[in-house]
Amino acid sequence: MTPPEPRLDEAAVRLGVVVDAPQHSGLLGVLDYLSAVPLPPGTLVRVPLGRRVVTGVVWAVLPPSGDAPVLATESLKAVIEVLDGLPVLPPTWRQLVGFAAAYYQRGLGEMALMVLPPELRQLDAVQLQRRLKRLDKALATPAAVPTADAPAGVPADVLPAPAAATLPELSPQQALALRALAAGGARPFLLWGSTGSGKTEVYLRQAQAALDAGRQVLMMVPEINLTPQLEARVAERFAGRRIVSLHSGLTPAQRLRNWVMALQGNADLVLGTRLSVFTPLPRLGLIVVDEEHDPSYKQQDGARYSARDLAVYRAHLEKVPVMLGSATPSLESWHNALPVAEGGSGRYLRLDMPERIGGGDMPRVRLLDQNHVLKATMGQEPPPLSRPLLDAIAQRVERGEQSLVLLNRRGYAPVLHCSDCGWKSGCPHCSAWRVFHKADRTLRCHHCGFSERVPRACPDCGNQDIQPVGRGTERLEEQLAAALPGARVGRIDADVTKHKGALEAQLASVHAGEVDVLVGTQMVAKGHDFRRITLVAAVNPDAALFASDFRAAERQFALLLQAAGRAGRDADVAGHSEMWVQTWHATHPLYQALQRYDFAAFATRQLQERQMAGLPPYASLAMLRAEGKTQEAAQGFLEAAATAVQDLVAQAPEAAGLMLYPAVPTPVQRVANVERAQLMIECGQRAVLQRFLSEAQAMWLAQAQQHRRSGLIRWAVDVDPLAI
Ligand code: ADP
Ligand code: ZN
Ligand code: ZN
Repeated sequence: MTPPEPRLDEAAVRLGVVVDAPQHSGLLGVLDYLSAVPLPPGTLVRVPLGRRVVTGVVWAVLPPSGDAPVLATESLKAVIEVLDGLPVLPPTWRQLVGFAAAYYQRGLGEMALMVLPPELRQLDAVQLQRRLKRLDKALATPAAVPTADAPAGVPADVLPAPAAATLPELSPQQALALRALAAGGARPFLLWGSTGSGKTEVYLRQAQAALDAGRQVLMMVPEINLTPQLEARVAERFAGRRIVSLHSGLTPAQRLRNWVMALQGNADLVLGTRLSVFTPLPRLGLIVVDEEHDPSYKQQDGARYSARDLAVYRAHLEKVPVMLGSATPSLESWHNALPVAEGGSGRYLRLDMPERIGGGDMPRVRLLDQNHVLKATMGQEPPPLSRPLLDAIAQRVERGEQSLVLLNRRGYAPVLHCSDCGWKSGCPHCSAWRVFHKADRTLRCHHCGFSERVPRACPDCGNQDIQPVGRGTERLEEQLAAALPGARVGRIDADVTKHKGALEAQLASVHAGEVDVLVGTQMVAKGHDFRRITLVAAVNPDAALFASDFRAAERQFALLLQAAGRAGRDADVAGHSEMWVQTWHATHPLYQALQRYDFAAFATRQLQERQMAGLPPYASLAMLRAEGKTQEAAQGFLEAAATAVQDLVAQAPEAAGLMLYPAVPTPVQRVANVERAQLMIECGQRAVLQRFLSEAQAMWLAQAQQHRRSGLIRWAVDVDPLAI
């Protein structure tokens, strides 16, 4: 629709339209345009911006001569066209986006446009109309509507919902949890259940109830490609419903289609990754966040939002229940679900499901103390895999059972080394080593991607004998194959699975029993339901104990427990399932708690440490990040930024404890020839930190302008940072 050309008289309406204005322009992204007719907020429009025509969202209808900001030098331009045919974006969508922009310190326009399907921004009204017609037609022919993103999936609309009789009978603890959920209340729920305790079944029942009530369900998962089983389960359970998925692996056209179906109310259930938290859902009735502790819910660049936290906010905004689920909740959520009397905030209601379905026990944890092994080998370096562990794996192979060996480092060896001259395989562009990948004989940088063929001889001294140092999954696979002749050893990591379908194929061969020993990174610890694994081993888990990031221990505990959950999923093998941990620090509290599967004890201890150190969840953090041509440029900006806000810091209430730390290089300080530095901001009161950040923004923008000349490339505020 092309609105009639507005005349600059009282007949025209002034609209506030958000467009994607870059942050450094200083504009928040709301610009004024004229329209001959009033358009309701939430309408998608095409407007001129400079010499381009861009997509924007009507945010407000303004009084004709209001005092809202007007681009000073330009007279007002008119809206070019309305992207009609789409429902108006709901008010709660605008509220969510507005909140996210303010909380994460980004421009409103940037945030609003970022969360729309990328394809939508490319289309004009005619092109969009064509897409919508095609979609309408597809929706009218039931079998043609793909479920999730799999065109070959269960045909939607045609199958009747499965009869209730096919549902499993609820376990007592599932029934209890569902009763608490049904009783409702405004508090978010934290479903704390062991792996295999039936959490997914609880999500599905709760989703069923919402669907039956005519509502839409938003089900969020960390990484959709790692959980094909969940997708299949959802599709099977809700065979009569329209299910769509939303994640970055879809084609732009698929993503637009699925998003449109959600907005139209034509999709009943959205299964998506973090970006799906912004899906407009006019009939929203339930939000589920599975594996709520997973770091991938936090966006790590651009607008660094936490989809888990926004899900909780959105549920509050839309007055719908939200359920966070995990076997190892984030300490933030755990603290929120602890009653006030126990030192928590009492904001969430915790539902506990300690028992696994079918009563299968978690595997017995065996801590393999490398110090003992060292003694046994008369002081010689212990072999990469100690004898008792190899024997235990060999036993499984003999019995026709499977083992999973976890090593969170891919490649053959993390570095190559020349023992003659000391050369090491550094990356010329990063402050990092290049990893030796034997399969394609490359030296590859995992930070910038720079890759070269492995040199035959030392590039510095010509020594022919350059050696791999340390071990990654490729080498572990080789060592296991050598140590266990006859065993079929397989591997799953990001290298093996980079081609589409490779992960599925590899998983299928594990399920079919074609692999005896599976080597993998954290990728295999997540979600997969392996039936015949009776031994899980972590061969090098100690690094996390001494990492500088205060969340490293929390993540490691979650990973190990999740990995343990891969073992003994069938009751008949659960009895003799084991989790082996090869460590130099067997008495460390993390491993001691793991051995007892005592997450609560681990969490209590961690929280005590956090409280003493003034760290989250007892304080709020923000990280000011900078990238420069030199380390001085990056740090110089941060120091100037800190100086610029001295008065603001002084004005903050003393009780809030607002504090800026010195600027420091990031742990990997140079990536792709860009130097990176950061400055941590800590505050005991979230609201004070928020006010400070929004006031500081303008000053930092000004500082950044000045520092561009001295080599500053980029800067950003990261609120509630995960990577420290
Ligand atoms: P979680 O999500 O906590 O890991 P799941 O919901 O995947 O647990 O349940 C683990 C296994 O038990 C799955 O194979 C699931 O189909 C099965 N299951 C779940 N609930 C029940 C039940 N009430 N009765 C029988 N089997 C169940
Ligand atoms: Zn050399
Ligand atoms: Zn590099």
